[in-house]
Formats: sequence, structure tokens, C-alpha cells
Amino acid sequence: MTLGNRPGSGPRTALVVGNWKMNGDFAANGSLLEALRASIDADLLARVEVAVCPPYPYLAQAATALRDSGIALGAQDLAAYANGAYTGEVSAQMLADLGCRWAIVGHSERRTLLGETDATVVAKAGRALDAGLGVIVCVGETLEEREQGREREVLARQLDALAPLAAAEATDFVVAYEPVWAIGTGRTATPEQAQAMHAFIRERLASRGFAAAARLRLLYGGSVKAANAASLFAMADIDGGLIGGAALVAEEFAAIARSAALA
Ligand code: PEP
Repeated sequence: MTLGNRPGSGPRTALVVGNWKMNGDFAANGSLLEALRASIDADLLARVEVAVCPPYPYLAQAATALRDSGIALGAQDLAAYANGAYTGEVSAQMLADLGCRWAIVGHSERRTLLGETDATVVAKAGRALDAGLGVIVCVGETLEEREQGREREVLARQLDALAPLAAAEATDFVVAYEPVWAIGTGRTATPEQAQAMHAFIRERLASRGFAAAARLRLLYGGSVKAANAASLFAMADIDGGLIGGAALVAEEFAAIARSAALA
């Protein structure tokens, strides 16, 4: 649905994105993609944008399976470089070539496990936008940072690094708030906790020159399931979700998309 007939906000079409992480194989993906096609139909897609982000080796499989379905394709990451001698890397242009609409950058697993810095994240996001992809930039605090009362300070640092992208189109620039303590843990932020952080994110981006801040989609991610999606999506500044584990179960993922459409 179109969210945002609220004071200070512009129209925002809900967006639900599945991050498959390093899961699946050719056979399992085939079944999942087929089930997604069957349960996410044109009526639903008229009210919510839906995308799935499989691992790189399966992007071509997903592009074929989702052709003309209206479900978009995204990558979980991309290179910070345009092209050249970067063994193992995948460029934004290659992803566009494969039919990707979106790229996720700055996921906490990459920031924490692979040492990605704010500078790397903004470089990758810039490459994605330059290649015509939409970008989903993940931000979020760890449990320790929240317990120290530093969640806003951490988000401010992560968001301020994005200032060079302030001119990005609202259709193509999305921020996902993913508290690290809620990812894959079964522990979800309460709708009120998430809303407070989303409002902070929108204000911070506006103060850093994002003229389109009121129209940017802000997704919540962290143990979203069919059972808790509706209460999260009912919040004024939560415009959809970035879904991990539940994105691997077609019926769960479709139910989450339906919740976003009804919010
Ligand atoms: C994620 O990894 O982006 C995520 C939100 O995972 P989960 O839904 O499994 O917590």
C-alpha cells in the first residue's frame, strides 16, 4: 500500500525484501521461487513491492524463475570498485546485467564478520546507484551499544557517512534499520522501539541534506515473521521489512508481504 498520508511524510510504497543469506541450493531455490510466484500475485504486487536477494551464484536461476512475475531481484552485496583486478568481487554493472533491481549494502554480518567500514558501505552504495540499481543500506546497533544507551550515536555515525548520497532518488535509496541484537535471534524490537529509531533515521537524513527524507522507505529487519509483521508495519515510519530467516519459507514471506500491503 501507499504509506505516508501522515503529517510530514510523502507517499511511500511499502517494500518487503528477502535476504536469503548463504542458504539454498539449485533444487531448494527452484521450489522456493515457484512457491513465491504462486503466492505473491499481481494484486498483491500492486500494493507492495517485493524483492528477493539470493546468493550470487543463484541470481541467474532466480532471474529466470521470476521473469515477468513482478517480484524483483536483488544482490546481498557488491564490490566497492567499478571493475578490474579484484578477484572474487562482483560489480554493480554485472548485477544490473543479470537483471538485479536492488543491492543490499552494509549488512551487520558484513560489518561485523568481514570488517566493512562506513567508508566501504558508502562506496558500495554509490556504485550501486551509479549503475542504476536501488540500494538498501543497513544500519543498526549491537546489543552492547544499546545497553550503553548509544544506539542513536551509532546510527548517527552510520547515517552521516551516507551524506555524499543525499541527492539519491527516493525510489532507489532505502535504509534498513536492523538492530544487531534482533537479527536471527528470534528477539524482535518492539514496534515502539523500532518506530522511535525509524523516526530518528528520517530526521537525521533530513538534517544531512537528504531532501527526499520524507519519501524514503525505511525498512525494519530483525526476526520479522508473519506473526509480528503487522504490528511493526503499522508504525508511521516503518515502510516495510528486510527479512532473513522467514524469507526462506514461501508462505511466511508471502504473509509478511500481505501484512505490508494491508498496513
Ligand atoms: C537479516 O539478516 O537481514 C535479518 C533481518 O535476518 P532475520 O530476519 O533472520 O533476523
